[in-house]
Amino acid sequence: MKKLALHWKILLGMFLGVVIGLLMTNFEGGKELIQDWIKPFGKIFINSLKLIAIPLILAALIKGVSDLKDISKLSKMGGRTIGIYITTTIIAVSIGLLLVNLVNPGHSISEETRTEMVSNYSDNTTKYKETAKTQKEAGPLKPLEDLVPENIFSSATSNRNMLQVIFFAVFFGIGLILIPEEKGRTVKHFFDGFNEVILKMVDLIMLAAPYGVFALLAALVAESPSIDLFKALGWYALTVVIGLLLMITIYTLMVLVFTKKKPSFFINGISPAQLLAFSTSSSAATLPVTMERVTEHLGVEEEVASFVLPIGATINMDGTSLYQAVAAVFIAQAFGMNLDFGTQLGIIATATLASIGSAAVPGAGMVMLVGVLGYAGIPEAGLALIFAVDRPLDMCRTAVNVTGDAAVSMMVAKSIGKLGEPKVKDWDDNYLKK
Ligand code: ASP
Repeated sequence: MKKLALHWKILLGMFLGVVIGLLMTNFEGGKELIQDWIKPFGKIFINSLKLIAIPLILAALIKGVSDLKDISKLSKMGGRTIGIYITTTIIAVSIGLLLVNLVNPGHSISEETRTEMVSNYSDNTTKYKETAKTQKEAGPLKPLEDLVPENIFSSATSNRNMLQVIFFAVFFGIGLILIPEEKGRTVKHFFDGFNEVILKMVDLIMLAAPYGVFALLAALVAESPSIDLFKALGWYALTVVIGLLLMITIYTLMVLVFTKKKPSFFINGISPAQLLAFSTSSSAATLPVTMERVTEHLGVEEEVASFVLPIGATINMDGTSLYQAVAAVFIAQAFGMNLDFGTQLGIIATATLASIGSAAVPGAGMVMLVGVLGYAGIPEAGLALIFAVDRPLDMCRTAVNVTGDAAVSMMVAKSIGKLGEPKVKDWDDNYLKK
């Protein structure tokens, strides 16, 4: 019998999670039951993914860079990767701006709803503003300064320091290329083997994915705010979602044009990672799976995937940048402000930078949105307006962030002759095979 493909199993898990979440909230004590007995499994699942993010980056990047055997290849790949990442982000922000100006969702918010929301969520807004303020107080070159850690062991203690670990791994890989081959052989073999083990751990975690997403979604549904708030923000949420769907279409077309791979091939290959990104709202937690899907199912050679994807997970957030543009203009509209063309152009620049600066964790895009609002002179209290629907939109934008990284890895791989045939076909997913 043909086995059910992984993405169907994950979708089934998500569906059952939503159904159980909705059912249980109707019973007295149902929410508590979910919190005590189901939610922990979701947490265990996310933790197991996060647990391998740093070792994966370290092993995969050192292996990837040292496999290149040549510094000029590395700089070529690096240049292309950053170039395409920035281009797709600018496209995403522009689409967001275009849509929000066309749909005009801010005008559908009544004065009354606005005042109510601003007062209901003002506590949360203050928290976000404070986090953003500490980030803003730092000088313009702070991100660059932060890239180089003073101690790799302390960097590796937090997933928030992924860029520092990436820096170290690339630097180490370059060192490995530059020493005589016989001296580096043992180190190289060690990291090659280490990488294989980590990839196998990802396979094993994926066996639990349908159950993990079930638990995550059941808990999320049980804890979500009332449906009335969603209605008031319907047009805004719809604008973001339409923009995100457009981005997925654009990626699929880019993959088709640049790599000649069919849209169904791309979407089938990447869908389990998209679903996990949706369920976890974290590109960082999804990274191990994105890596596995791209190398095993989309044909990108490991040395490209292990370079392009960790960088993408930390700096390429097209879904986030699109959302930031829509949210900023939506808040301005709701407060009756008219943003001129120049300010909107500035939003393209600030949202691009803000998305690069957003951490690959749930809700990070909203913290960085404060900077975009500040630039455009939009009241930061307006964050309260979008708070209620932020989690579902975070889920959607994270799925887009991950899709963008995968698409770019295919394009970069193609451009340097490193896009081959997939190693695994979806119907013979066999994660326990050697
Ligand atoms: N959750 C997003 C991610 O991890 C970032 C954000 O937009 O909040 O990609």
